[in-house]
Amino acid sequence: MSRPTARESVALMAGYHSPQIDVDVRLNTNESPEPPPEGFADAVAARVAEIAWHRYPQRSASELRSRIGANYGLSASQVFAANGSNEVLQTLLLTFAGPGRSAAVFEPTYALHSHLSRITGTAVIEGERNDDFSLDLDEVERVIVEDRPDVVFLCSPNNPTGVVDPEASIRRVLELTAANGGLLCVDEAYGQFADFSAVTLLGDDTPLVVSRTYSKTWAMAAVRLGYLLAPSWVIDELEKVVLPYHLDAMTQIAGEVALDHLDAMNDRVARLVDERERLLAGLADLPVDVWPSGSNFVLLRPQHLSGDDVWQGLVDRSVLVRNCASWPRLQGCLRVTIGTPDEDDRFLEALTEVLT
Ligand SMILES: *Cc1c(COP(=O)(O)O)cnc(C)c1O
Repeated sequence: MSRPTARESVALMAGYHSPQIDVDVRLNTNESPEPPPEGFADAVAARVAEIAWHRYPQRSASELRSRIGANYGLSASQVFAANGSNEVLQTLLLTFAGPGRSAAVFEPTYALHSHLSRITGTAVIEGERNDDFSLDLDEVERVIVEDRPDVVFLCSPNNPTGVVDPEASIRRVLELTAANGGLLCVDEAYGQFADFSAVTLLGDDTPLVVSRTYSKTWAMAAVRLGYLLAPSWVIDELEKVVLPYHLDAMTQIAGEVALDHLDAMNDRVARLVDERERLLAGLADLPVDVWPSGSNFVLLRPQHLSGDDVWQGLVDRSVLVRNCASWPRLQGCLRVTIGTPDEDDRFLEALTEVLT
C-alpha cells in the first residue's frame, strides 16, 4: 500500500517548533511568570461546577464578547473570540485570504503569520524591515502597491524583536492598505506593554483589525483564548467560517472571570515593565547587543560566542530561553522572556557565567 500523502504545501512544511524542555527557569515562550490573581481559579471552579455538560456551549459567546468589547468602548458585534489569537488569525486568513489571494509580512516578525498563511493556501509576500527592525515605509509601499496583498500583517510590539511601530507608521501602512483594497491586521499579543495601540484607529469604514490574546499579559496561556477587535462587517464574515461551537464553555467562563480581575492584571503588566528595565540594565554590563523592547521579552545577541552555544550553556544551567539563532535576519540571537525578579537574576547569573 502506498501511503496517502499530505498536500504538497503541507508535506514541505517544517511545522511549529518550540522545545518544551524541563528546566527550573522557563523564559522561552513569553508567558506571564505569575499565575492569575488570587481568587481567579476558585471563581472559575465555582462556575465550571454549574456547566450543563450535556449541552453545547453558547455559540455566539455573547457575554464574553460584550465584556471584552466594553473595555475598548466596542460592542459584542465588533469582537470575535477564538481558541488563542492563532485561531483568530487562521480564521481571518481562511475568510479574507486563501487560495488565489495573498498576505504580506515584514520580516523579521512572528513566524505564525506566514506559517498560517501557507496552511490556508495564501501566497506569502515577504517585505524586509530596516536593520534596526523598524518598519521601512518605502518597502511597505513597494510591497503593497506592487502586490496588492489581501491581508497585511503588522505585529506591534513585534515578536521576536520587541520593537513597537509608532502611530505614524501604522497610520501610513493603513492608508496604503486601504488605498489598495486590503485589510490591515495588527497583532497586538503584547499590546498592553506598549505605549501606543492601533485600537484607537479602529472604525467602521476602516479596513483595520487588531488581535489580542489572554496568553501573555493576562497570565492565561493554559486557556486558549484570543480575540479580534474589528468592524462588525468583518466579524460577520468570520462567523461564517469558524467551526460551530469552537469556543467551549470552560474557555468562555475563564475569559469572563479574568475580566473581573482587570486591575490585578494591569498591575502585573506594570510590574513586568519595571522588571524589564531592570533586566536591560543588567544586560548593559555584558558583552551582548540588545534591542529596545516595548514588550515582555528582550532580544539579544552575544558579541563573541554563537547563539547556539550560549543557548546550550543556559540550558546546562537549567535556564531556557528562545533560540532564534537560525531564524532569518536574527543570526546568533536569543530571546528572553521577562520573568520574576528571582528568575531574571538566575538568568543573568547563568548568562554571565556562560559569557565570561
Ligand atoms: C504568542 C503570540 C500569539 C499567540 O497567542 P495565542 O493567543 O496563545 O494563540 C500571537 N501573536 C504573537 C505575536 C505572539 O507572540
